[in-house]
Amino acid sequence: METLWVCLWVFVFVPLIISILSFLVVLIRSPFKFPYREITFDVSGTKKPKIEDYIDRLLINNKMNAIDRHKSEMLAWEKGCLEDIKKSVYKKRRNDQFIASLDWEHAFIFIFTRNKTRYKQVNYVRYPYTVVEEIGRFSCSYKYLKDRFNKLNEIGFEAVLSEYHSKSQRSLMTKELREQIAFRDNFTCQICGKYMPDGVGLHIDHIIPVSKGGKSVPSNLRVLCSKCNGRKSDH
Ligand SMILES: [Zn+2]
Repeated sequence: METLWVCLWVFVFVPLIISILSFLVVLIRSPFKFPYREITFDVSGTKKPKIEDYIDRLLINNKMNAIDRHKSEMLAWEKGCLEDIKKSVYKKRRNDQFIASLDWEHAFIFIFTRNKTRYKQVNYVRYPYTVVEEIGRFSCSYKYLKDRFNKLNEIGFEAVLSEYHSKSQRSLMTKELREQIAFRDNFTCQICGKYMPDGVGLHIDHIIPVSKGGKSVPSNLRVLCSKCNGRKSDH
């Protein structure tokens, strides 16, 4: 008699309980995992990195290509899920789980990392090694990125939005920007044609003056000689 009970437990009850439990787990657990897109920025060496500026630079350099590709992958995932739900035995439950998994508002996640040097001690010698440390993250929707992209498009992708709208346009006149304009204009005054290869007397002029809302962007900058620059200020 006792052997029969043992046999029943081992071959019938226990397998039955296990299969019921696993059935419940499958039913309760959501099979849907929203395909967030993580994009990492290495901001080593930057004191106070502004996430928006990094996003703008990404959009200036790569346009919407990568973002659009990610979005179409997300839409393909969504389509696949809906097809799976149609085939599922637990349609209602799966559909609820699917809706709960959607998170388009935070679809794109930008992560800031910094490289930090650590040391390990081996036989009285300190060896440096680098670790990548996350210092912050920011998430947004596709629409947020598309809106920024459209604003950048309006200003010809000439600057990140925070700089374009900055009150201190003069402080944006960096050495690099001056050099860029001097090379572009071939060290030549854009009014009289004077050539100044040594840079002596070469001015970088705001075509629309900063005082009148002109920006420190290439399309509003040009090379002038001292004479033409002086004449311009007379007006
Ligand atoms: Zn000139």
